[in-house]
Amino acid sequence: MQLEEIGWLRRGACRSSDPDLFFPLAPTPLQEARAKAVCAGCQVIQECRSYALRAGESDGIWGGLTPEERRRARTPETWRRPAAS
Ligand code: SF4
Repeated sequence: MQLEEIGWLRRGACRSSDPDLFFPLAPTPLQEARAKAVCAGCQVIQECRSYALRAGESDGIWGGLTPEERRRARTPETWRRPAAS
C-alpha cells in the first residue's frame, strides 16, 4: 500500500472512532451498523470504497461495506448465479 494512495484516509471520519469498530475480532450486526453509520457521514467514502475494492482489502469495514459486501461487489452477478443445467 502506497502512502499517497491512501492520503485521503487522513480526512476519514473513522480517525476519531475506536478502531475495533472497524476491525473487530468478532464482527456483529450491531458493530457493522455502527461502523457503517460513521462511514455514511464520511467525506471520503467514495475514495475509501474505491480503494478497498481495488486493493482487495479482505478485513474490516471500508467505505461503508463489509468484507462480504466488497466481495460481492467485485464479483460479476453472472458468476453468482447457479449454472444452468
Ligand atoms: S468511509 Fe468509513 S472506513 Fe472509509 S475513511 Fe470514511 S469512515 Fe473510515
